[in-house]
Amino acid sequence: MAVILTFFFTHWFLSLFFHSFFLHRYASHQMYNVTPGWERVFYFSTWFVQGSSFLVPRAYAVMHRMHHTYSDTEMDPHSPHFFKDVYHMMMHTAAIYRRFLTGQDLPDPQFTREYLPIWKSLDRFGSNNIVRVTFMIAYTAIYFYFAPSYWWFLLLPIHFLMGPIQGAIVNWFGHKLGYSNYNNGDHSRNTTPWGVLLMGELFQNNHHHAKSNPNFARKWYEFDTTYLVMKGMHFFGIIKLKPLEVQHSHEAHGTERVVQHERRKQMLQQ
Ligand SMILES: [Zn+2]
Ligand SMILES: [Zn+2]
Repeated sequence: MAVILTFFFTHWFLSLFFHSFFLHRYASHQMYNVTPGWERVFYFSTWFVQGSSFLVPRAYAVMHRMHHTYSDTEMDPHSPHFFKDVYHMMMHTAAIYRRFLTGQDLPDPQFTREYLPIWKSLDRFGSNNIVRVTFMIAYTAIYFYFAPSYWWFLLLPIHFLMGPIQGAIVNWFGHKLGYSNYNNGDHSRNTTPWGVLLMGELFQNNHHHAKSNPNFARKWYEFDTTYLVMKGMHFFGIIKLKPLEVQHSHEAHGTERVVQHERRKQMLQQ
């Protein structure tokens, strides 16, 4: 049982960390600079820990940039306020993701203007169904050898769909439940203390207020564990967090966006 629990939580937190640290805070928002070599290390690690549910970083980043611009309007790729349950929201998100990757839908140029990390051969390999199924077989083999009973196999679907499940939790609860520190003109919320299980990602209200600030925590009782790791990496010279002036100019930009959101909402209501 100890092996299974260790495997489950290691997979959960490693997958979440690279989701938050690489897909969200780097690919989508460029909160720090890295050398091309380290970028490859993080890209590879993201593929390896997400395994069967690997998400192509540039597709993730474009959709996430749309999420910020259209937060909680009908053009948001995954606002919980337009779906009856989390399953329908996930299916809608997956459809946009596929249309983008197959070239059926090209994103608005404003979402591809900023830098996007691209490693096409790894994207193709990681998205190959044989590779995805090989990861699933590996997860199942660990349960087969170490699970004390077959009941534990019920956890396997979480391993298979780890990346999208964590994204769905953040997008659903982060825009539905919790408290607000700021009026962002959307439904973004903060959750604590159990939000610590999502490594800072559930401070959506703080994050939407200043999308370039690498620290999602604002109050003394809020802990952004991904940011703590990033501070350590900055200290050791692995990444270089962008200077505060840049973040402040984005915070000012945040207020502008609230006005834009209000206008967009009024347009949608008419
Ligand atoms: Zn959000
Ligand atoms: Zn974001």
